[in-house]
Amino acid sequence: MASLSSDTPAPALVTDTRSRHLRDLRISVTDRCNFRCTYCMPKEVYGRDFQFLERSQLLSFDEINRLVGIFKHHGIEKVRITGGEPLVRRQLERLIEKLAQDTSLDLTLTTNASLLKQKARLLKDAGLQRVTVSLDSLDDAVFRAMNDVDFPVAKVLAGIEEADRVGLNPIKINMVVKRGVNDDAAVDMARYFKGSGHILRFIEFMDVGFTNGWQMEHVVPSRELAERINNVFAIEPAQPNYLGEVAERWHYKDGSGEIGFVSSVTQAFCRDCTRARLSAEGSVYTCLFATRGTDLRSLLRNGASDEQISDVIASIWRARNDNYSEVRTAETAKLRKVEMSYIGG
Ligand code: SAM
Ligand code: SF4
Ligand code: SF4
Repeated sequence: MASLSSDTPAPALVTDTRSRHLRDLRISVTDRCNFRCTYCMPKEVYGRDFQFLERSQLLSFDEINRLVGIFKHHGIEKVRITGGEPLVRRQLERLIEKLAQDTSLDLTLTTNASLLKQKARLLKDAGLQRVTVSLDSLDDAVFRAMNDVDFPVAKVLAGIEEADRVGLNPIKINMVVKRGVNDDAAVDMARYFKGSGHILRFIEFMDVGFTNGWQMEHVVPSRELAERINNVFAIEPAQPNYLGEVAERWHYKDGSGEIGFVSSVTQAFCRDCTRARLSAEGSVYTCLFATRGTDLRSLLRNGASDEQISDVIASIWRARNDNYSEVRTAETAKLRKVEMSYIGG
């Protein structure tokens, strides 16, 4: 049989060497971005001469859609579109439209929101359910310095407003916290989004890739941040929504909403990690900190059947042994890992 349809019985769900299932797929649709966030795509590396992928190297929307169908047979329930900046990929709404045909998938997107005001309605109409927006400070000068392309914070806030208005909510707001750069903005961010219905999540600065100059001294542990916020607005821990949830959830005691902490550095969550990543050129990675992936694009382009590709995915997952955050050291931080803008955040 050449293809797997929705009527094909699902195989017994594959587990890795640590008994973890495959539940989430993060898909990078481009390695390009219109920001140069200093912790992700530093200008000194991603300058004018940087060789991004050619258009022909990117998976087409049909190829991505086909792979998602195959991954679904291994238990994928959630798909997150990311990058690079996903909204710089032309006509992204066409991909959303294809993926949204399968209404059982939880379909979301992570964006820097620079183009969200123009695109929110199109994305919603195409079937996107929610968005996550990255925003590191409300202080315009700090934000402009962190994105390093002088992009104003007001435009991101306008994008968030529009996404909310068209119903791409609840919106998650991701703030990467770097000590001495924007950590003093955390309480202001909490104040701004408290009571808005949006969920602010503080992300520990991570040693993704090998070009962002990561050092442990730059990490503000979530515990410390939670204490700082609790000193101003009383918060209490909440139950996870599901096993393997990345963010640790907290509620404001006055009932005005929720915040989250993603503590990959100080409280590793590898034990429940059910995520795979598909790069823009069609390689699959089983960990954010991977040094190598497996090319699926050649299979797609060389006439492999769905079943053959499905078998390859199953064998990659069965062999998976990743637990990078549990074993991170200053030495592993220097490894030549794949960059986050390429692999998809
Ligand atoms: N361009 C989109 C955006 O920024 O939302 C999507 C891709 S970006 C790589 C995905 C997420 O990774 C963003 O929320 C970003 O802040 C986060 N990120 C990038 N580099 C990081 C790092 N070194 N440590 C922690 N989070 C990081
Ligand atoms: Fe671009 Fe997102 Fe990386 Fe910032 S974090 S450089 S917006 S891909
Ligand atoms: Fe998953 Fe790798 Fe992150 Fe651990 S370090 S939670 S295995 S992506």
